[in-house]
Amino acid sequence: MSPLATLDGCASELARADTPETAPGQNSQRPVLRERGQREVFCGLTGIIWLHRKMQDAFFLVVGSRTCAHLLQSAAGVMIFAEPRFATAIMEERDLAGMVDAQDELDRVVNRLLERRPDIRTLFLVGSCPSEVIKLDLAKAAQRLGAVHMPRVRILNYSGSGIETTFTQGEDACLSALVPVMPASAPDAAKELLIVGSLPDIVEDQFTRILAQLGIDKVGVLPARNARDLPSVGPNTRYLLAQPFLGETAMALEGRGAKRLDALFPFGAEGTTSWLRAAASEFGIDEALFDKVVAPGRERARIALSKLRPQLEGKRISFLPDSQLEVPLARFLQEELGMELVEVGTPYLHRAHLARELDLIGPQVRISEGQHVERQLDRVRADRPDITVCGLGLANPLEAEGFTTKWAIELVFSPIHGFDQAADLAELFARPLRRRDLLEV
Ligand code: SF4
Repeated sequence: MSPLATLDGCASELARADTPETAPGQNSQRPVLRERGQREVFCGLTGIIWLHRKMQDAFFLVVGSRTCAHLLQSAAGVMIFAEPRFATAIMEERDLAGMVDAQDELDRVVNRLLERRPDIRTLFLVGSCPSEVIKLDLAKAAQRLGAVHMPRVRILNYSGSGIETTFTQGEDACLSALVPVMPASAPDAAKELLIVGSLPDIVEDQFTRILAQLGIDKVGVLPARNARDLPSVGPNTRYLLAQPFLGETAMALEGRGAKRLDALFPFGAEGTTSWLRAAASEFGIDEALFDKVVAPGRERARIALSKLRPQLEGKRISFLPDSQLEVPLARFLQEELGMELVEVGTPYLHRAHLARELDLIGPQVRISEGQHVERQLDRVRADRPDITVCGLGLANPLEAEGFTTKWAIELVFSPIHGFDQAADLAELFARPLRRRDLLEV
C-alpha cells in the first residue's frame, strides 16, 4: 500500500448521525451527507512529523515497510541532516512471511537504538499497515521492552496505520497512548486546567501567558515538550481541546475523571475568545478582568483580519475531507471574514466537540462526513467554488481543471491558533485567491 491510503467502499447516503444528543444547539443535530467510498488521505504516520518536533525527548520507531520509511523521509526530509527523532524498523519479506520471529527482531532493533541514543526518554513503537497485517502485537512488545528499559526509557505504542484512519488521527492515537501513564492527581487537589493538542511552542506560550494573566497559572499541556513531564490528571482536571481531532484522547481523559470545557476552537478572534472564556468561567474569573486581559489580543486580531476581509468576503469555499480541522476553520472563515461556505466535508464529525461550531454554520451549508472522492469531486465541479481546500493528491488535478486550491496539510503544519496567528490563518486562504487573480489578468 502507498502512503496515500486508497480504500473502496459502499455508496454515500443522506442520513442523520446516530450520535447521542449531547449538543447544545439544533444545528449540531442537522442532517449530514454521509459518504463511504474511495479515500485520498495521508495515513496516521504523518503525525510524527509534528509530534517529534514537539516532544523533544521522544523517539518514534515505526514498525513498517519501505513505503512507510519513504513517507516519513519525504515528508520530513530536512531531518535527514539533523539528529533524527524517528526511524523505521523495516519489515522484510521474511518477517512478513513469518520466517523469523518479528518480536525477537524488534527487541534487537530497540536494544541497539537505546544503547546508541541515551537521550531517548520515551520511545513510541508505531504500528503500520504491514505490522497490523501480520498482527505484530506492539502492545506486548512495549510491555516486554518497557520492563527491561524502565525507568530510563518509557516505551509506549500506538497505531499510525492508514487502513482506517486519516492523518491527524496519528496524533490522537499517540496522545491517547500517553493518557494512561499520566500521574494521578491527589483526590483533594484543586482544579487544574489542561490544554490538549500539539501546538507550536510559540502559540502554547501565548496561551499560557494569557491564562496566567487571568490568574489561571496551574496549566498542564498534553503533549508536554518533554514527553516524560506529563501533567497529572484526575477529577480535578478541566481540559480544553486545542485541536478538533482528538476524540480518543478526550475519551481516555474522561475515563480518568477529567471534564471537557465546551468552547469554540481557538481560531480567529472569536474562536480564541470563546476558548479562553470557557476556562475563565470554569475558574471563576471576574468578567472585568477577563475583558481587560483578552481585549487587546482580540482587538489586534480583529484589526488584522479587517485588512484581509475585502479579499475574502463573498468568496465561495468548499472543504474536501482531510484534516478534521474543516468545521472550525469553516466557521472562522464565514463568521470573521464573510466567506460563503458551499460544502464542509470532514472525515469524521464529532458532534459533541463540534456542536458550537455547527450551531454557527448556517443550515444552508452542506456538511459531509466521510469520503467518496469521485462524488465529492463531481460536486466541486458542479458548485465551482472560488477555492477548494483538499489533500495534496487532489490539488493538482483540480488546479489542472482550473480550480483554485489550498492544501489542507499546510493548515496543520502552520501556527494558526490564537489571536496573533488569526491574520496568518486568513492569509493562507487569501494567497491562493490573489495568485489566481494575478494569473487571470
Ligand atoms: S502505514 Fe500504511 S498507508 Fe502509511 S505509509 Fe505505511 S503502508 Fe502506507
